[in-house]
Amino acid sequence: MDAPAVPGLTGAKRACGIIRGNPVRRARYNAPMAGISGGMEFRAGVPIRVPEPPGTLPARGIRLVSRERPEVIAGQVVRAGQQLFRPGRPGMACYISPLMGIVKRVTPLMEHDGESAWGYELAIEPSGDRAETQMNVAPPAGRKLESWFAAMCQIGPWSDADGGVGLVPQLEMAKERKPKQVILVGLDAYPPCPDRTSLLMSFADDAVLGAVILADLVGAKRTVVLAGRGTGAGARLKPACKNFGAELLLANNVYPSSDPTLVAYHQAGGRLLSRGANPVSEGLLMFGPWTAIRVGRWFTRGRFDLVRPLMMRWPRAGEAMGCVYGFTGQSLASLDPRLGEHLADPASVVLVGNPMTGRRVGPVPRASVDEPVVPEEELLISVMPEVPATPLEPCIACGWCADVCPTRLQPVKLMEAALSRRGDTRLEEPLRWCIDCGLCSHVCPVGLPLTQTLRRAKSDAESAAGRSA
Ligand code: SF4
Ligand code: SF4
Repeated sequence: MDAPAVPGLTGAKRACGIIRGNPVRRARYNAPMAGISGGMEFRAGVPIRVPEPPGTLPARGIRLVSRERPEVIAGQVVRAGQQLFRPGRPGMACYISPLMGIVKRVTPLMEHDGESAWGYELAIEPSGDRAETQMNVAPPAGRKLESWFAAMCQIGPWSDADGGVGLVPQLEMAKERKPKQVILVGLDAYPPCPDRTSLLMSFADDAVLGAVILADLVGAKRTVVLAGRGTGAGARLKPACKNFGAELLLANNVYPSSDPTLVAYHQAGGRLLSRGANPVSEGLLMFGPWTAIRVGRWFTRGRFDLVRPLMMRWPRAGEAMGCVYGFTGQSLASLDPRLGEHLADPASVVLVGNPMTGRRVGPVPRASVDEPVVPEEELLISVMPEVPATPLEPCIACGWCADVCPTRLQPVKLMEAALSRRGDTRLEEPLRWCIDCGLCSHVCPVGLPLTQTLRRAKSDAESAAGRSA
């Protein structure tokens, strides 16, 4: 049975258009998917074994973006020429970068209006040839959220993708409002590349322990470890869950079932969490495997991981996904010489993130200052064959985009409304339920840029709302 419609959406009823497309393709896209309305089954990939992080890595310059003025988050002035140092213990001193070195530049990143800065970029040059991948700093003693929160704000960076808003904003809200449930989301962001499953299977004990620690800190009664059914992760996680008192929940790994909106709705009792809303407002704390593993490893080893894993996908070469470790902010090209080649090649497509919604990076000239860097929020880098552009044709009202939409929007109607009423703030509400999964564009037989238009409309509506506030 279909899940009930999400209130506030314009698309409670599905579009039933004339079917003019390829019936085989349509049947595939309409396959019933247990537990999720819309979405799409892709062939699941084989998880890989993720190695332990190495002790040191070759030191490279890094570029970090901070939304706050660095001195505000760091507790001391950070300026060009300054030598960074490690704290003896959290809370004692400034720690803003995973790499020790000299701050070469602090550059304000300006809004479109050119008047205010939305963030700051810090360019840091390493002070040696090799960089340590762990910081010798013990986690705070005791179980007080305040002391852990203060420590976590000073070390990091933490992924912005946890729960759609990041771990730190969730913990901040949890100080005022206790979440009832903590969910470690181990469903893969894109099932053909089982990045999260691979991490869970490789560091099962650390992941579950990290989730239980975070639940304990925020006083949540329930700790759920959510993993993909049929991936092998269930058998690997079961003993750890039993040992640490967490609940193991297995669900179909249907794209995009790992999205926080869909996790809240389908795995946490129908909670309505629009895109970008803080899960704690719905009584949930959510994070991905690497965040949990990092917390678990910090607790058991008394050292904090400064590097992060990154999965690489080389479909053109027909290779299995691989894993490398790197510092957030180091150049992507420095991770693998082949990636450097692809980034410089205009015929290659390199995506940060999954092939449905990833950000295209490159081509970039070698040693360019604008070269893409290791992101904090994405686990996957995909190198794709170039897909020929589909010539644009008018909508044939096949209804596929509405059938596949996981939040039951009617993408084509929303797109038409967005194009005819640009910047209209009334579109803001339905657009909040677009989770930017890319499926509507993916299935559209005439290649209409639905996701892209909705993405732009969202940003237009947000700017218009900001202007009128
Ligand atoms: S991108 Fe938005 S409108 Fe399109 S299918 Fe996904 S959620 Fe629905
Ligand atoms: S926008 Fe594309 S997928 Fe949606 S109804 Fe029209 S032709 Fe079909």
